[in-house]
Amino acid sequence: MTERDKSSPKVVIVSGGAHGIGEASALAFAREGYRVAVADIDRAAGEKLAAGRRSPTGDIAFIQADVSRSSEARDVVQKTVAAFGGVDILFNNVGIQPPDSYRTAEHLDEAVWDRIMDVNAKSCFLLCKYAIPEMLKRGAGVIINNASVQALQSQRLVPAYAASKGAVLSLTRNLALDYADKNIRVVAICPGSVDTPMLRATAALESPQNPDEALTQWGLKHPIGRIGRAEEIAEVVLFLASEKASFITGEYVCVDGGLMAKGAWA
Ligand code: NAD
Repeated sequence: MTERDKSSPKVVIVSGGAHGIGEASALAFAREGYRVAVADIDRAAGEKLAAGRRSPTGDIAFIQADVSRSSEARDVVQKTVAAFGGVDILFNNVGIQPPDSYRTAEHLDEAVWDRIMDVNAKSCFLLCKYAIPEMLKRGAGVIINNASVQALQSQRLVPAYAASKGAVLSLTRNLALDYADKNIRVVAICPGSVDTPMLRATAALESPQNPDEALTQWGLKHPIGRIGRAEEIAEVVLFLASEKASFITGEYVCVDGGLMAKGAWA
């Protein structure tokens, strides 16, 4: 076992880190002095993010990858180890909810189901499969999976997304048990609505004339009265990755402005 030199910065992989919650988290990790590997399918956005952030306290390296593919997920881990010497934290953030997925099950294309399951759930398994051996070499690690409040409660017309997020939560519990005695913690976050390109795309779909109004209305459904900011999710991810959360594993944290506290009668 080659433990990390305690004085060297920790290394984190963020999947889907070029936009939205992943981008905010990558920037937050870099601000705190982590070495950050951003794995994303969007080369232009990833390279822009990496170019803007090189400093003595935090580096961001961009690795273009479709993390739902085994060879590319393995490549992400190998390139991270080559660049930064190991892996301490894995933030399985990537997720998609494409416009053609808003269907009842009978009308949902099988290929769309497969794609959502592959990107949202299988990518977590694949990145864990390749990153965990690196964490075992370090003698420690933290895996944070981005689920959703939709893993806990559902809404109409999201069969694949809901199923994929339920899978992410179940995988979180399993991994936590399998690796607790190896000093690897595994936790999930369940965000409510967060202002990102993904949410804005959904708003444009639902309300093409006035997407901002849709965002405002969704915000009002949250007890806090607004949707979240990606930076607010990133701060929770930072906490969960840190030693401050050393007794939390196998658990999820709702970052949802009170949404899951609210009963249907309320
Ligand atoms: P986003 O669409 O804004 O960003 C997702 C990123 O993933 C993009 O940079 C995109 O290029 C990248 N990506 C997509 N497919 C990829 C692939 N196959 N391989 C590598 N990269 C890929 O999304 P977001 O809103 O920031 O969502 C991030 C995570 O948070 C997702 O798992 C999502 O389900 C979850 N989430 C979001 C919200 C919300 O309201 N925004 C709420 C709950 C949960």
